[in-house]
Amino acid sequence: MTSITFLGTGDSMGVPRVYCDCGVCEEARTSGRNRRFRSSVWIETDAEPLLLDCGPDWTSQMEKLGKRYVGDVLITHAHHDHIGGLPEWADACRWLRRKGNAYAPQEVIETVLERYPWLDRFIHFHNVDEGMEYGGWRIRPWKVCHGKNGYAYAYHFSREGFRWVYCSDSIDLSDEQKAPLNDLDLLVLGTNFYKEEAARGTRSVYDMTEALELLELVQPKRVLFTHLSHGVDTAEAYPLPPHVGLAVQGETYRLSRE
Ligand SMILES: [Zn+2]
Ligand SMILES: [Zn+2]
Repeated sequence: MTSITFLGTGDSMGVPRVYCDCGVCEEARTSGRNRRFRSSVWIETDAEPLLLDCGPDWTSQMEKLGKRYVGDVLITHAHHDHIGGLPEWADACRWLRRKGNAYAPQEVIETVLERYPWLDRFIHFHNVDEGMEYGGWRIRPWKVCHGKNGYAYAYHFSREGFRWVYCSDSIDLSDEQKAPLNDLDLLVLGTNFYKEEAARGTRSVYDMTEALELLELVQPKRVLFTHLSHGVDTAEAYPLPPHVGLAVQGETYRLSRE
């Protein structure tokens, strides 16, 4: 079976935000429905599993999942919420005497190694600028606008009978950057808020209202929103079409048309 499990559906600071006592953060501290780790996905493939992004909540996410080891990590971009767990993963690789494999575009690898120069002693870095084959999937990255934060990468996964995209950190995509979003069975898209009030120039991720406009254009069969900040309450019934929903942390979604 090939499937994805959301290990985290939170934005860069996670939910609750340490400094914050808003309703969603308070709820996240008590019943915990809104408790969200930094965004990351566990992909079951025909071969070994592949972890998509390794943020600062990585150890808690592995414990929750009940896995002791992951050997392969795919990275979207070198922001802390997506790579902050790499030093701990490298340490785990060191203890187990198994060298891990990290896959990312070349410029992301360079930034990661500037930040954590010792990682390549424990992890092999593989440049995926030209895409790669992994566990039955053809995987291809492309650069997406990340607003005031510059650029991130999204990944397009395809195999016979299923195409999906993971695009957690993007906004204001150009027509060219939108092109790989056509003809998808599943789009996993980052949306920090339902409606974000901050000035456009300070923004870095789509909100749900803007995402709905994008979906009108590219029309994926199914959509899951992730990278959700404390501005999103999972108990709230946001006005979304039936094929669009919030990704549920801990939930597994099958990647097949049946
Ligand atoms: Zn992010
Ligand atoms: Zn809050």
